[in-house]
Amino acid sequence: MNFTRRQLLRIAGVSTLLPVLGRHATARDAATPGPGQLEAFLRRPATLLLRNVRPMGGTPVDVLVRDGRIAQVGTALRAPAGTPGEDGRGALLLPGLVEGHSHIDKTMWGMEWYHNAVGNQLTDRIENERAFRDASGHDARAQSMVLAKAFLATGTTRLRTHVDVDTQAGLKHLEGVMHTREVLRELQQIQIVAFPQSGLLARPGTAELLDRAMATGADVVGGLDPSNIDGDPVRSLDTLFDIAARHDKPLDIHLHEMGSLGAFSLRLILDRTEALGMQGRVVVSHCFCLGDLPDAQRTPLLERMARLGVAIATTAPPIAIPPLLACRAAGVTVMGGNDGIRDTWGPYGNPDMLRRAMLIGMRFGLRRDEDIAVALDCVTWSGARGCHFADYGLDPGNRADLVLVDAQTVAQAVVDQPVRRLVVAAGRIVARNGVLESRLAGI
Ligand SMILES: [Zn+2]
Repeated sequence: MNFTRRQLLRIAGVSTLLPVLGRHATARDAATPGPGQLEAFLRRPATLLLRNVRPMGGTPVDVLVRDGRIAQVGTALRAPAGTPGEDGRGALLLPGLVEGHSHIDKTMWGMEWYHNAVGNQLTDRIENERAFRDASGHDARAQSMVLAKAFLATGTTRLRTHVDVDTQAGLKHLEGVMHTREVLRELQQIQIVAFPQSGLLARPGTAELLDRAMATGADVVGGLDPSNIDGDPVRSLDTLFDIAARHDKPLDIHLHEMGSLGAFSLRLILDRTEALGMQGRVVVSHCFCLGDLPDAQRTPLLERMARLGVAIATTAPPIAIPPLLACRAAGVTVMGGNDGIRDTWGPYGNPDMLRRAMLIGMRFGLRRDEDIAVALDCVTWSGARGCHFADYGLDPGNRADLVLVDAQTVAQAVVDQPVRRLVVAAGRIVARNGVLESRLAGI
């Protein structure tokens, strides 16, 4: 076991009392009881006139929000009497940020530091985590809420999370995150991927659990290394695509497999995407193999992925990964995400998606402003496109998910990651200066 008795006691008894909600939130905020507060908050009309803001660093405009949506963008807009107003004072306006690949069910955000002494193999991390969660009583429901709110406070209004489904925990973690999704649904759109973290075939009974997870309310079917973990890529992927077809749901498959083995698995995924009419409904997360294949093998794979609408989710780690600009040039959507945030897999990650954009920019050596804007695109429009989040963007008609920061340009926002001066979610102000609205803090 990779944890101390003291850690277990702390986790079991204290963790839910001391969640960290955002960089300025306090434990007292978190412990404030919140029955009825969210309902009262949501009863207020989602209407707002945001004056003097610069969309993506452009010329100043006003943005009129009505019924949770962007009604009008223009200069000197007039709003119906009684519409609340906010002076943007020339701030940079971004759309709500998008987390395209996370695991909010397993985070220890806000809890005691986890001493990581886990082995280096993928299977070491999987086995350690499953044992730790089972023994410690780690609470996916409470912890996913803590992290989801920290995301919201820093401007993330849409989020895809993979949630462990395995034969030890069953659907417990899924049910916990479903609760968080339901509570926050009017403010933050959470997509749940039912994720067989311990393998689909490796532990008999997992496929049936995944099937139940989809029937219970997961949004996306998840998968994991059909060759390395399951050892039978054809049967693994056939099983996975069959579950997706039966529930008419999209797929998001973790593929850590490198080189020619990864390319082999990727081709099997693309074959099934094409044969089963799943075009535009498949994401391959990580897809490391595209980072270490020669161009002559990578290019046709990218062209095929573009043709089939298969997107990539990347965390931009410092190893071989799909080359961002080449993927985009081929027409493949690349979205950004944290993967785990402060869990037994690793201590890194942060709910601030501008920080993730900066890490993407640094990993790919992006220096020119227009290239750094590509890094932001991975956590905004590309993220929304890859996850199929609807009604996204800064044009009229879209859901009013708006983020204000003090920055001259998009590139500066990525590099500086300024405190979010204002976060608007579906037309309602949910955070100011990085602090969640008090009525939301106690949820
Ligand atoms: Zn992951």
